[in-house]
Amino acid sequence: MTTCNCGNEKSYTACCEIIHNDITKAQTAVQLMRSRYTAFCRADGAYLAKSQAEKFRPTVLETEETIQWAKSVTWVKLEILETSDGLEKDSRGTVTFKATYFDAGGMGIIEEKSLFEKENGHWVYVTGI
Ligand SMILES: [Zn+2]
Repeated sequence: MTTCNCGNEKSYTACCEIIHNDITKAQTAVQLMRSRYTAFCRADGAYLAKSQAEKFRPTVLETEETIQWAKSVTWVKLEILETSDGLEKDSRGTVTFKATYFDAGGMGIIEEKSLFEKENGHWVYVTGI
């Protein structure tokens, strides 16, 4: 069975693609987090920029660097370790995650507690806290 990059047992089409096409479809901070991980896997810089809060939004150059890096690694998995708030009724929340990848140097892990907020009526990633 095909699973989405984010680890959900659904195809990309039935999972993160829906959010990549319409960011307002992410009803929770975790859904937005998963869609961003999948965007890293697919090196989708436009979505990564769009899904970050305006005040922390990367520049075009920074996005390009992120994409080059994202393409250079092999993404293994995303694990959601802990969440607080970030549900439909909330306007902010946190998601602690662990993303595993391989690069030329071996296995790498990104572990971060991320802050998410609603901006213009939908969830966005703000920054690591
Ligand atoms: Zn997904």
